[in-house]
Amino acid sequence: MCHDELALINMYSKKALCADEVYTFSVVLCDNEIDRDGERFSTQALKTLAELFKGKTGISDHSMKASDQVARIYDTEVETFPDMKTRAGEVYSRLKAKAYTPRNEGNASFIADIEAGIKKEVSVGCAAGRKICSVCGADVHLTGCAHKNGRTYSGKLCHTILCDPTDAYEWSFVAVPAQPAAGVIKSFTKKENRGENSMQEILKRFEGATDEGVLLSKAEAARLLAHLDSLGALADDGIEYRNELVKNALCLCATALPSLSRESADEICKKLRVGELREFTAALEKEASRTLPCSAQLALPGSAAKTISNTEFKI
Ligand SMILES: [Zn+2]
Repeated sequence: MCHDELALINMYSKKALCADEVYTFSVVLCDNEIDRDGERFSTQALKTLAELFKGKTGISDHSMKASDQVARIYDTEVETFPDMKTRAGEVYSRLKAKAYTPRNEGNASFIADIEAGIKKEVSVGCAAGRKICSVCGADVHLTGCAHKNGRTYSGKLCHTILCDPTDAYEWSFVAVPAQPAAGVIKSFTKKENRGENSMQEILKRFEGATDEGVLLSKAEAARLLAHLDSLGALADDGIEYRNELVKNALCLCATALPSLSRESADEICKKLRVGELREFTAALEKEASRTLPCSAQLALPGSAAKTISNTEFKI
């Protein structure tokens, strides 16, 4: 081990360690290949993660007990392989980390496992700021889209691109790899759904508003505005649909309930929710079909039609 590496390690260790007190090894944390969940990191995300993972402690399993913390990353590097292409057609890149662990009795079996190649699969937990549809570029959380992961559109496999990582929580050794090519697992645990919950979290903050107001970051404000925009578009669609329903119901009222004034029909329709309007319309259609074919078939002028409908109500 060179002096530079030892200097890096000592930036993170509590007490200065000398070369024979530490054991160092390399792990591949993640790459830009599409994984089993139909997700992949963007190459830019790997570069951001390279910075975020520096100094992060790795654990030997998924428990967060301090006693399980066995190694710490002291350096990272994004490696690119110009001759290798991913399934998305990009140059294959991966995030490699150098980690150290103190050589002591407690770590002896851990070090032995690494040397024997038993502990080589690594899982990472991180937060993706944005998740993008590979087909249309829509933000999966903000707007969503109709494309399905794993399907092919115009010859291209639809997958989710994880961009702009905001935090790296942990890395750990695990038993089964999820990314077969790299032998690396990317486990997206609850913590990682921050992107997904962020709108709920932002709205929660409004509930807890104080006299000082509500504090939002620039990114959160942008996210909220985009959310309101998409809700506005949905509301426009809803209003248009509702207006169609009301128009149709009023037409049917004139036929099925001729004795009901237009004003009263208007008032009734105003009070009904969309579901009730649909039910009301269906009932009016049924009613109208009882009177309509009769007058249509006979096509009688007003007075005669009245006579017929009057006779219907006799007996
Ligand atoms: Zn899409």
